[in-house]
Amino acid sequence: MSKTPWQQRIRRAENLAAHHAFASQILGFYIHVARFQEELYQRNPERAARFPLFLDLVAKHGPEPLAHIAENLTQVSDTSRSDLLEAVWSAASEPPSNPQEFLAFAYLQPFAEFGRDSSEMHLECYTGSVCPWCSRKPGMGVLRQQGDGGQRNLLCAFCLTEWSFRRIVCPGCGEEDPVKLPVYTAAEMPHIRVESCDGCHAYLKSIDLTKNGLADPLVDELASIPLDLWAQERGYSKLHPNLLGM
Ligand SMILES: [Zn+2]
Ligand SMILES: [Zn+2]
Repeated sequence: MSKTPWQQRIRRAENLAAHHAFASQILGFYIHVARFQEELYQRNPERAARFPLFLDLVAKHGPEPLAHIAENLTQVSDTSRSDLLEAVWSAASEPPSNPQEFLAFAYLQPFAEFGRDSSEMHLECYTGSVCPWCSRKPGMGVLRQQGDGGQRNLLCAFCLTEWSFRRIVCPGCGEEDPVKLPVYTAAEMPHIRVESCDGCHAYLKSIDLTKNGLADPLVDELASIPLDLWAQERGYSKLHPNLLGM
């Protein structure tokens, strides 16, 4: 039986955690989240129904202070929790910005992926800077082999739509001057690039699948925390945070 995308992500997270001590804690937590998400995706329940169970999981396995915030959210009214989910689901132009919103974002992600997978979307001609399905800013880039070179795609962190985008352009502000678009890589994970912009001070990480065909964009993006610290110390802020709020 072939593996589901979630099982592939979990396997990749286990491998990365075994080889990169700096990422083992966050990936251990992600594995719990991904198992829960897979069940949401498979069963596609009423949207708010299992949020309290998800919060219990985060309270049990999440890092502090997230675990404590999740526990507090289990104490509020059903209406407050539904309002939070609705706000994060609809707020395409504003990335989640506090821990409550990150929890809702991670919980809702498989619903978005399910919705996108069930839709008939044609992307052949789309080259915009926001997700064509949910209008969110891209969460990461992906470099894939195409002909003799690499094609850069952007990937939505919410519904996981991937679409093509010109390689030397900032998806945040449209800057095209290569001098203002510095790229940084680190020896520990040479297939991951920080692509930053000195025009709008945004960055995203791109996963170079031409250098590492085993990488999973979503999981490798989560694992490469030192690159986020590097970029943020230099005053860049991420175009769209990842599933775990980084
Ligand atoms: Zn999307
Ligand atoms: Zn920019």
